[in-house]
Amino acid sequence: MNREELANLIFPTITKTIADYEAMYPERNLGENAHVTRFAPSPTGFMHIGHFMPLVIDYVLARQSEGIFYLRNEDTDTSREVEGAVEYIRSVLACYDMNPDEYEYRDTNETRGNYGPYIQSERKEIYQTFIKHLIIEGKAYPCFLTKEEMDSIREGQARDKRRIGIYGRYAKYRDLPVEEAIQKIKNGESYTIRLKSSGDFNRKFTFNDLVNGEMEFPENDQDIPIMKSKDGLPTYHFAHLVDDYLMHTTHVVRGQEWISSIPIHYELFKTFDFKMPKYIHIPLILKKDGESVRKISKRLDPEAKMTYYEEKGYPRLAVIEAVMTIANSNYEAWREGHPNAPFTEFAFSPKKMSSSGALFDLDKLDNISKNYISHLTKEEVYEGVLAWSKIYDEEFSKVLENYKDYSMQIYNIERGGKKPRKDYTYYSEIKEKTWYMYDEYFESIAYDFGSFSKEEVKKILDLYISAYYNEEDTQEEWFNRIKEMCNALGYATDMKDYKANQEKYKGSVVDVTNIIRIALTTLTTTPNLYDIMQIFGRERIEKRFSMI
Ligand code: GLU
Repeated sequence: MNREELANLIFPTITKTIADYEAMYPERNLGENAHVTRFAPSPTGFMHIGHFMPLVIDYVLARQSEGIFYLRNEDTDTSREVEGAVEYIRSVLACYDMNPDEYEYRDTNETRGNYGPYIQSERKEIYQTFIKHLIIEGKAYPCFLTKEEMDSIREGQARDKRRIGIYGRYAKYRDLPVEEAIQKIKNGESYTIRLKSSGDFNRKFTFNDLVNGEMEFPENDQDIPIMKSKDGLPTYHFAHLVDDYLMHTTHVVRGQEWISSIPIHYELFKTFDFKMPKYIHIPLILKKDGESVRKISKRLDPEAKMTYYEEKGYPRLAVIEAVMTIANSNYEAWREGHPNAPFTEFAFSPKKMSSSGALFDLDKLDNISKNYISHLTKEEVYEGVLAWSKIYDEEFSKVLENYKDYSMQIYNIERGGKKPRKDYTYYSEIKEKTWYMYDEYFESIAYDFGSFSKEEVKKILDLYISAYYNEEDTQEEWFNRIKEMCNALGYATDMKDYKANQEKYKGSVVDVTNIIRIALTTLTTTPNLYDIMQIFGRERIEKRFSMI
């Protein structure tokens, strides 16, 4: 009776019961093996690759089991919230085409799914219903420790080399008579609500993590805060319990850093007698740093933030491929056997994750990405680079739009077939690899014809365009004509012969093709010259030659 009075004093407006919410959010009507997963970021303004990996796994697990993948906005820590963060998260999901089945977007007033609200700050009443129940049961209590008192407890514990926290005799208010607690609240004293832990630190329990297997932990005996004094919102631990219970999450995929909280979560679920979801604690993402390997860091490594991949313009599926490759060691072999299958068809297994850390290697991503782009159609490359440049290089996007077919012809050079060219690693690189194809970017300043004089170069180019160039030629005919010209001008066409008798010649057919190449592009290495000339056509070739 007294405890009820205390609970009503703290939560005068809470009238629903846990059973009411259980009735509102019944078991989901899904197949037996369906996985219900959630992506539950806090809106802190950026996304770390360490958040992206669980996201990909959440998505794969839900898709391949015909389950549900939902988005939950974990915004209970209002002090860390950054403006625009929610929109950013949403844009990442859209950009990687991993849109959730259930969500709530406040700015556009869109919501989908019967298990919402999906924004934690809108669930205050729900959390408080669960907390009120604990207070009535005597399993939670208001704690009046001030910040100064807590600081001094912590200092004392550190000094005496004891475990830090509010437990046992440090939990000064856990046994405060209810009447006194009521009085203090009526006096306006500030408080948080703490769990009245029933755990014993000297007792162990086993917990089965799907990545790490059986793990042993000491029981939690800390009276952890479950509701903050500032805004009446729950702590992460308590929100995790309530939300994943009511939303019927079957698999929690989250970072390793949460493993140490397992004793708390285990006790919370036990306190309510709720079944725990299964847990996939994904390994830390590591990177090579010289000779050693260390945790990837958002401070030191630009690639730790997902914006890095967006800015560089990696195709989204290449990034996902790279993440899947480090998630499961057998992914690569599966991919070789199923080159065209969607990544969601891969049978992801948490057991095949390395619990000691996943080594993320940018060179590997680059290789995956190069390979991926090399297998796209010219239209897909065009769409990819256009979408990228619309955001990051508006001027180039205009050029691309003005020269759509022309650009596609460029991307089509040595595309298709068993061994396509692998020119491009990401979209931001395409301009610097193709600029010379566009008159807008071409500048006639940097020609270097090596030992050949300008007069000789001009003589070759003039003769070539007037007597040997023919737009209709096949590649073979084109090359034969260059050779004919070489014979006429005193350049060797047979490299062996040239090497043996250099003094007899002005140079070789290689020099002549290079002169043409440099005249057209200023570069000494380019994709197939014949293809470039086909794309240019006579007019542009003449124009470029005339610039020498
Ligand atoms: N909001 C937590 C985070 O961003 C989510 C952890 C979880 O998935 O439970 O780290």
